[in-house]
Amino acid sequence: MREQILAAQRAGIPAHLLLSDRDFTPEDYELLCRLDEQVENRKGAKDEQLAALPTEVVGAEGRRRSDGVPSTCIICMEEIAPGDVLKRLPCLHDFHGDCVDTWLRTKACCPVCQRGLDPST
Ligand SMILES: [Zn+2]
Ligand SMILES: [Zn+2]
Repeated sequence: MREQILAAQRAGIPAHLLLSDRDFTPEDYELLCRLDEQVENRKGAKDEQLAALPTEVVGAEGRRRSDGVPSTCIICMEEIAPGDVLKRLPCLHDFHGDCVDTWLRTKACCPVCQRGLDPST
């Protein structure tokens, strides 16, 4: 409970809303939902982390797997095409830059192997 109150205070929600034993109003409920979202977002990567990842522009030959099949970005399932900008994670998996930025803002780990963005972990 103490943790929740602290989180609420950080999010600008008065602690009495959490401690109160009166019925929640729809407004209170909305506040708490928003709080949940904010807590969730803290698990995402920060812009600095995203900017620090190496990018690469795919050459005219495109990108193929060792068996000759064109590689796909597993986030959008689109084929990786010449001229696409890829972003590589510390685990060496790479994805479209835009796709992986969106992903990492929600969840700061690789969509394939679940490794975090910190190479030491
Ligand atoms: Zn993609
Ligand atoms: Zn990975």
